[in-house]
Amino acid sequence: MEKLKIFNTVKDTSEFLTKQSSDGRTIGFVPTMGALHEGHLELMRRAKLENDILVCSIFVNPIQFNNKEDLKKYPRTLEDDIRKLESIACDVLFAPSAQEMYPEKEKTVYDFGNLDKVMEGQHRPGHFNGVAIVVKKLFDIIQPDKAYFGEKDFQQLVIIQTLVKQQNLSVEIVPCPIVREKDGLAMSSRNKRLSPEERKLAPIIFKTLQFVKNNFHKFSIEEINKHVVSEINSNPGMKLEYFEIVDKKTLSPITNLIGSKDSIACIALFLGKVRLIDNIAIF
Ligand code: AMP
Repeated sequence: MEKLKIFNTVKDTSEFLTKQSSDGRTIGFVPTMGALHEGHLELMRRAKLENDILVCSIFVNPIQFNNKEDLKKYPRTLEDDIRKLESIACDVLFAPSAQEMYPEKEKTVYDFGNLDKVMEGQHRPGHFNGVAIVVKKLFDIIQPDKAYFGEKDFQQLVIIQTLVKQQNLSVEIVPCPIVREKDGLAMSSRNKRLSPEERKLAPIIFKTLQFVKNNFHKFSIEEINKHVVSEINSNPGMKLEYFEIVDKKTLSPITNLIGSKDSIACIALFLGKVRLIDNIAIF
C-alpha cells in the first residue's frame, strides 16, 4: 500500500481491514490520542516492520478523562499528525468522532482487581475503565494481530495485558520502551502545554528517577520517598502527586528493596497545570 487511507467510520474501517486480513495480511495497530511525537512514531515504525499493514488510531477518548479541563486542553493537531503518519508510511488512520465510538452510553465495568486501584487509578477515578472500554472497542473494530503500547504508561500496559487475558483476545500486546528527549524528559503530548520555564525544569523528573535506580540499595524505602518528595517539591510550580516503587506484575508497593525483583518506580506530578507521568525499571 502506498497512500495513507483515512477512515472516520467503524463500517469503512472494518470492511477494509477484514478484506486485508482475509487476503492474508497481518495487521499491526498503534492506538493513540494524537498530537503525535517521536514516542508514538517509534511504536509505529516497529509495528510497520513487524506486520504487513500499519493501522493507527487517533481518538481523544472522553470517557478516560476524569478532569474536564484536561480533556478540553488536550492538544489536537490532526493535520500535523497526518503529515507525520505519511512520513513513516502508515497505511491506515482511523479517526472516529465520539458519536461514532459511543452511539450509546457506555455501561461496561471491568474488574482488574488491585491493578486499577493504585497510582493512576487512585488519582484518576474511572480512568482505566475508560481506557479498557475504548481499547476493547478498537480491537474489535481493527482486529489486529499485534498492538503496540508504550512503557511510558506502564500501568496502562499491565491493564491492557490483563484485559487481553480476561477476554481471551487473540491480539499480541507488544510493550515498547520509553522514548525521551535528549535531556531525559519522557516524550508526551502534554509536554506541548509546558511554558519555556516549566520545560527547563522538567528534566528533573528523569534525573530523580535515575537517582532512585542508582541508589536504592543504599537507602530505605522511607529515605528514598523523602528524597523524591523534596527533589520534586522544591522546584517552583512542581507538585508531586505520587511516587511508588511497585512490583511490575501486581503493581503492589515494594516494602523492602533488598531482594525484591522486577520492580518499577513510578511518578506523577504537576508542573504548573500540566500533569506528567514517568517511570524507571529498578531491576
Ligand atoms: P497517547 O497518545 O498518549 O494515548 O499514547 C499512545 C501510545 O503511545 C501509548 O501506548 C503510550 O504509552 C505510547 N507513548 C506515549 N508517549 C511515549 C513515549 N515517550 N515513549 C514510548 N511510548 C509512548
